Amino acid sequence: MASKIKKIAVFTSGGDSPGMNAAIRSVVRTCAYLKVECVGIYRGYEGMVEGDFKPMDARSVNNIINKGGTILKSARSDSFRTPEGRKQAYDNLVANNIDAFVVIGGDGSFTGAMIFNKEYDFPVIGIPGTIDNDIFGTTYTLGFDTALNTVVDAIDKIRDTASSHNRLFFVEVMGRDVGHIALNAGVGAGAEEILIPEENLGLERLLESLKRSKKSGKSSSIVIVAEGDKTGKNVFELKEYVEENLPIYDVRVSVLGHMQRGGTPSCFDRVLASRMGVRAVEALLEGKSNLMVGIQDNKLILTPIEQAIKGHTKIDKELIRVSDIMST
Ligand code: ATP
Repeated sequence: MASKIKKIAVFTSGGDSPGMNAAIRSVVRTCAYLKVECVGIYRGYEGMVEGDFKPMDARSVNNIINKGGTILKSARSDSFRTPEGRKQAYDNLVANNIDAFVVIGGDGSFTGAMIFNKEYDFPVIGIPGTIDNDIFGTTYTLGFDTALNTVVDAIDKIRDTASSHNRLFFVEVMGRDVGHIALNAGVGAGAEEILIPEENLGLERLLESLKRSKKSGKSSSIVIVAEGDKTGKNVFELKEYVEENLPIYDVRVSVLGHMQRGGTPSCFDRVLASRMGVRAVEALLEGKSNLMVGIQDNKLILTPIEQAIKGHTKIDKELIRVSDIMST
């Protein structure tokens, strides 16, 4: 039976992440391949409320697979949080004959999509785009792998200075609620200790570990701190704490900040984005809705958006153990 979906909109919403452009390209090209019309919405839900739409054909996404950020721009929209704003958005979609949309974003963007779907029975599919990797229903979100490579690269550079001057560096990485970036990049960059929101390492243990490493002859150390680490101290407070309790250390702080979000997407993120975009369009044409495309055991899977929002990702305990062993 022919699908009722003849025109699909695609947009990016919330914080940008590398791989979003590759996902837009994939949605647009899959629509072209399957002879479905495609429309790009600028600035996420804000553009939907304002009617900021642009038809997209296969050639409109030339040379974007390698670009960070998002050509469709992203925004946070307060008006879409109101029933009036969502009504306006719905009217704009209907006026443009749009039958369904693909939203590329994080859990906030998915919450908006789910509410909209409930109110208007409008077909929606989500693609997880966030560097934090904090979405349930997928082992990887778009941008996570690139962010890890960016962080590891930055820490490698910091290590040059740390070892030249026998210093201890606290490096703050993104992760208010989850420590996936800190843990993975920490192991990848050979960090001495990794402080994450999920586990309370304890300040005593940190001091013990630093004492031990000094004794064992290490000349420099790197401690990775996720923004929301469980010690309750930020990097600057940690620096003060260690300097007070272990004056042998010359401590420096580096906050990586927004550079973690930018940059050329890794090959992994480009491939993942391309696969997810195809699946998202196919799912809509199969009559599916209110689902998020994810990847597990290298297979694409569909998870109800509600579950993706409400579920929690788990920190990899095995990786914590590996990190402990490596810091011997
Ligand atoms: P990030 O991972 O960067 O935080 P996100 O997708 O979670 O990305 P948010 O800023 O939380 O980003 O959400 C993006 C947009 O989704 C909001 O600006 C708003 O327009 C819409 N949105 C979020 N929550 C709701 C809600 N409860 N009702 C309606 N719309 C919402």
